[in-house]
Amino acid sequence: MTTTTRTAHDRHGRYPQAASVEDFRHNLATVHARIAAACRRAGRDPAGVRLLPVSKTKPEASLRLAHAAGCRLLGENKVQEAHHKWEAMQDLDDLQWSVIGHLQTNKAKLVARFASEFQALDSLRLAETLDRRLQLEGRSLDVFVQVNTSEEDSKYGLAPADVPAFVRELPRFGALRVRGLMTLALFSEDAERVRACFVRLRGLRDRLRQEAPDGIGLEDLSMGMSGDFEIAIEEGATVVRVGQAIFGARDLPDSHYWPGMGAP
Ligand SMILES: *Cc1c(COP(=O)(O)O)cnc(C)c1O
Repeated sequence: MTTTTRTAHDRHGRYPQAASVEDFRHNLATVHARIAAACRRAGRDPAGVRLLPVSKTKPEASLRLAHAAGCRLLGENKVQEAHHKWEAMQDLDDLQWSVIGHLQTNKAKLVARFASEFQALDSLRLAETLDRRLQLEGRSLDVFVQVNTSEEDSKYGLAPADVPAFVRELPRFGALRVRGLMTLALFSEDAERVRACFVRLRGLRDRLRQEAPDGIGLEDLSMGMSGDFEIAIEEGATVVRVGQAIFGARDLPDSHYWPGMGAP
């Protein structure tokens, strides 16, 4: 039964550093095997789950090793850090960037310039600014609407009840390709409370799909990270965002990225 799957948050901060292309290949193979096992338990095809490696806080040298090991899309939480890395790695012309963290409207133009995906859309003002900047750049962007499924005050994202009205406004932003919903689950070793966040996101997506405006794709569910991606897959994740299990533990505390979060 799927309900026996535990979180791996107890390993948080303890993953060994990946220091060679071999280390990255090994870690990627391990994560893909965990994805495949979770898919088997859930009766799903592993081809329906995309792995997004998350490289935040890691130095350029480490990202280059990940690229050499086959990574072609990297997730970054902070837009300025992502933009610096993009500039420094222009020589890798097949490397694309996904911005997965909260974005202030005044930094939308940076995302419009270089990102191929943005997973933390949470306001109409931001959608409007992104769309305008993208039109100027002649670019488009895949976007995910971030939902606060745990309803903790510290988390970004729309309250689930506000998502339907929000999604109805999105067709007017022609440069935004709406792919689906994204969430960060409760950070807990209690697997069932974590699972409840994922179930909630899937339920919301299923309801929205029935009433989605034309041109709004709501197929994707971006949910699950190193400590909980197997549970997310069991509940329908189509994108999992995995950092530490591929790159190694981070030096900076997570509170630097997720307001309100201290040590695990
Ligand atoms: C850092 C981060 C992840 C990945 O977390 P890991 O514990 O390193 O796997 C996933 N999603 C978001 C939004 C993040 O900021």
